[in-house]
Amino acid sequence: MKSTMQDQPLLVSSILKYGAYAYGDSEVFTYHGDVISKHSFIEIAERSAQLANALHDLGVSQDDRVATFSFNHNQHLEAYYAVPSMGAVLHTLNIRLFADQLSFVINDAEDSTVIADIEVLPLLARVLKDTPSVKRVLIVGSGDTSILEPFGVEIFDYESLIENQPKSYQWMEMDERSAAAMCYTSGTTGNPKGVVYSHRSTYLHSLSAISGNSLGLNSTDRALIIVPMFHANAWGMPYACFMAGADMVMPTRFLQAAPLADVIAKLRPTLASGVPTIWNDLYHFLLTYPVDMSCFRLISSGGAAAPEALIRGYEDNFGVHMIQGWGMTETSPLVTLAMPPHGVGEEDRLKYLLTAGKAVIGTEIRVVGKEGEVLPNDGRSIGELEVKGPWITGSYYHSDSLESFDDGWLRTGDMATIDEDKYMRIVDRTKDVIKSGGEWVSSVELENTIMAHDGVLEAAVIGVPDEKWDERPLACVVLKSGSEVTPAELKEFLASRVAKWWIPERWCYVTEIPKTSVGKFDKKVLRKDASEGRLEIVKA
Ligand code: ADP
Repeated sequence: MKSTMQDQPLLVSSILKYGAYAYGDSEVFTYHGDVISKHSFIEIAERSAQLANALHDLGVSQDDRVATFSFNHNQHLEAYYAVPSMGAVLHTLNIRLFADQLSFVINDAEDSTVIADIEVLPLLARVLKDTPSVKRVLIVGSGDTSILEPFGVEIFDYESLIENQPKSYQWMEMDERSAAAMCYTSGTTGNPKGVVYSHRSTYLHSLSAISGNSLGLNSTDRALIIVPMFHANAWGMPYACFMAGADMVMPTRFLQAAPLADVIAKLRPTLASGVPTIWNDLYHFLLTYPVDMSCFRLISSGGAAAPEALIRGYEDNFGVHMIQGWGMTETSPLVTLAMPPHGVGEEDRLKYLLTAGKAVIGTEIRVVGKEGEVLPNDGRSIGELEVKGPWITGSYYHSDSLESFDDGWLRTGDMATIDEDKYMRIVDRTKDVIKSGGEWVSSVELENTIMAHDGVLEAAVIGVPDEKWDERPLACVVLKSGSEVTPAELKEFLASRVAKWWIPERWCYVTEIPKTSVGKFDKKVLRKDASEGRLEIVKA
């Protein structure tokens, strides 16, 4: 029997139209350091229409790939709405990619148009000679654009281009399964792979993100979006906020602790999203230069495990709840969120906050053993995490990657457990876990325990070859300034906190842990440095 319901497609344009209609006065703030610009949702909708008209006049048509090469700001948001809604496909380029990866993804996606910030033109210029599909560049911000001239691309100033365009556009009616946007994995563990989101997946993901048991976003919220808009759709916030009528705060290139503290003091956001390394920097800054953090109802952390010391630190020193989520580029990204269950006491709350969380409505998670058997939710059985749902990729663009899928589930490459309460815990990435004498050592747990030491700013742990045990952990540590903690002291600190045989005997002090293009510890670089003898390793 067929239903009697109207068959309305779930489109990105519906999110835009609804936000402008229902919450037209909600605001998007863009922080430029000295100045803060402000646009209402109605203005964003009008400017998105102007951008779509301009792109249409330039010949951008259905399915054309329009890339962005930008920090977070209102123009980037306009592209988020205009490009998919006119039937083209938004491709968010990571401004921190190496030139070879950048040209690879532009060529793979065959981007015809790039919307780029003036500040990053030199980075774009490095690849344009190798990316023949790019015909035009729209530049956000004023300055010298001559660096692009040798490449024969048309160059436009974004603001002048849209200025005189009509403020409305007949958004395309299309199948909700059509491509809306694409994003490449950041390649922490290999070459970037393309994921293509649909209008439907984007719409449903945003609805789930704003729902009460997820972030519970609503029109009293103001979201500081620190996670870059090129990192897995800024975790869906640009769409979710429009649905919920929540103000947005875009920090452009001001992602260091001092300007972020300034944004918080000036604009008083109620929630914010970022990776743990950003939260760690901000935390240490705030200990010396505190700002009033009482505006926050929560801050969300994802992309890597948030250390316990950091979660406790925000809670104890600033009264700020840090909620972890788990996701991947392949999963739009939201899959789990660590909202503690209702009615648990203080200490138990922390137990849940330390997990990667529970599946949000719309997603399913399971852990699978070596033989392909589904493991019990007992909090102990470790297997590969597999996920399923309408906003989880079922394939990769231009790549079979059959090994990434298991009977309709996406294999994540993460090792995890799920407990009786259905909270999931990431043990490690399959590629990072250390196999010592046939037993597993979780690099994540070790580094997070080391980071709980007062004298430590950052720590990353990798496996290095060992004659006796095959592999043993090497701890790379960044000390806080003025701290003089020795490896022996760190070993003693670990002794009461982790299994004895986990404790590293190889230590290395570094001034900085190398980071990936999305701000995670780059263990690939550390492993290479270690194997090529560039790290000064002491045995203790
Ligand atoms: P890349 O895989 O290139 O790093 P993603 O940003 O898509 O790019 O990363 C997804 C991965 O990040 C996950 O597979 C997982 O290993 C890690 N991750 C994300 N959130 C968490 C979390 N809360 N705890 C631990 N690891 C996480």
